[in-house]
Amino acid sequence: MSAHADSTPPSVGTGHPHGSDAAERVRAFLDAHGPALERCVLAEGWTAAEPALDDLRARVRAAGLWAPALPREWGGMGLSLPAFARVSEELGRWLFGHYVFGVPAPDMGNMELLLSHGTDAQRERWLRPLAAGQIRSCFAMTEPEHAGSNPVVLSTTAVRAGDDYVLRGHKWFTTAAEGASFAIAMAVTNPDAPRPHERASMLLVPMDAPGVEIVRNLPVMGDAGGGWASHAEVRFHDVRVPAENRLGAEGAGFALAQERLGPGRIHHCMRWIGICERAFDLMCGRAATRELAPGEPLGRQQAVQFWVAESRAEIDAARLLVLRAAERIEAEGQHAARDEVSAIKFHVAGVLQRVLDRALQVHGALGMTYETPLAFWYAHERAARIYDGPDEVHKAALGSRILQRYGMPRGRR
Ligand SMILES: Cc1cc2nc3c(=O)[nH]c(=O)nc-3n(C[C@H](O)[C@H](O)[C@H](O)COP(=O)(O)OP(=O)(O)OC[C@H]3O[C@@H](n4cnc5c(N)ncnc54)[C@H](O)[C@@H]3O)c2cc1C
Repeated sequence: MSAHADSTPPSVGTGHPHGSDAAERVRAFLDAHGPALERCVLAEGWTAAEPALDDLRARVRAAGLWAPALPREWGGMGLSLPAFARVSEELGRWLFGHYVFGVPAPDMGNMELLLSHGTDAQRERWLRPLAAGQIRSCFAMTEPEHAGSNPVVLSTTAVRAGDDYVLRGHKWFTTAAEGASFAIAMAVTNPDAPRPHERASMLLVPMDAPGVEIVRNLPVMGDAGGGWASHAEVRFHDVRVPAENRLGAEGAGFALAQERLGPGRIHHCMRWIGICERAFDLMCGRAATRELAPGEPLGRQQAVQFWVAESRAEIDAARLLVLRAAERIEAEGQHAARDEVSAIKFHVAGVLQRVLDRALQVHGALGMTYETPLAFWYAHERAARIYDGPDEVHKAALGSRILQRYGMPRGRR
């Protein structure tokens, strides 16, 4: 086993300003409590580790670090988006960081939606226990039958029947559906709206309502996971949902989904940078100590030195890009920051993939095991280039917006 596989070496790259007192406190907390729990999750799986994860959640609360991104009146620390971005990086260094601090996806995005668009009654019923970590939630938009990268095309319908909607449809990759108390489901309510972007609405659907079926957890690279760490195929068989469970206006589903993704991309990108930093530490620790021959560490090889140098530069540059995007969202709103948000989504996902690949390569066969978190991340974070908009969608959107400023006419989409 690597000398560093079960310890947390300090980040000794060029170093970076961790930036906030909250981030430093979170880092110290996880450095103290993270290693043992990480070994447990990797060795026994998420479901078996849940009691220990819940125990750590209680310690997070006791330390006054619960839900750093939530407003204080909802039990959080009330951090701004840029300040939370710093914290999100620290949480990202650990497989369960966001979960134990009460800000995991998809709950965080759902909480932001409820905060900005929920009625008082919806917030009391759904947001209050979610913010407190008493329940979990999921977000059901993507359907196996349609391209998720163009989510205006949906077959799931919600037809008004008296005071209810009747929800019928088939979803998949509904992250964390197993054990969730409710889903925010996207369904077509206004099929005749002239603009496709105005046909769907979001509904708050109790997961124990008659007609909700979790068909299975989809194996991701062969691992079906469990609980929060899973992605389900879900069917809605004529589920009756009270009309008061609609989130926002009828037909506003697509606009809300776009809104949900803006800060979510900052959270994801900073989480990925945290993963990169951890992978970087593991890579350097291994390269500096693994001997190819007595007195001849692997790190003397120029190929490895290049990987270290390239990774350092890519991670530092990625962090600056994401923090700039976070600051722009905070100062000018999501619309103004849409170029930056498109750029970070594909750029940081690419950096993540390259850094993880190099770190795994430096570990040799050890990298393929669960003695370090590298193989877990390598398998599960490949999806970073697919979810929340595949790379190509963001690149095309950014490139097209730039070219329009040079006079190119707008296209069909
Ligand atoms: C781990 C994971 C978790 C997820 N969690 C959730 C969740 O909680 N809730 C939810 O609703 N969904 C979730 N998703 C689904 C995710 O949002 C979709 O996978 C994503 O939107 C892409 O849709 P798709 O898989 O149908 O791919 P498609 O839309 O079929 O696209 C396939 C490929 O085509 C290419 N492509 C697509 N559009 C373009 C374009 N315009 N130009 C060029 N190339 C293009 C891209 O390379 C893309 O990867 C999750 C997915 C994964 C992998």
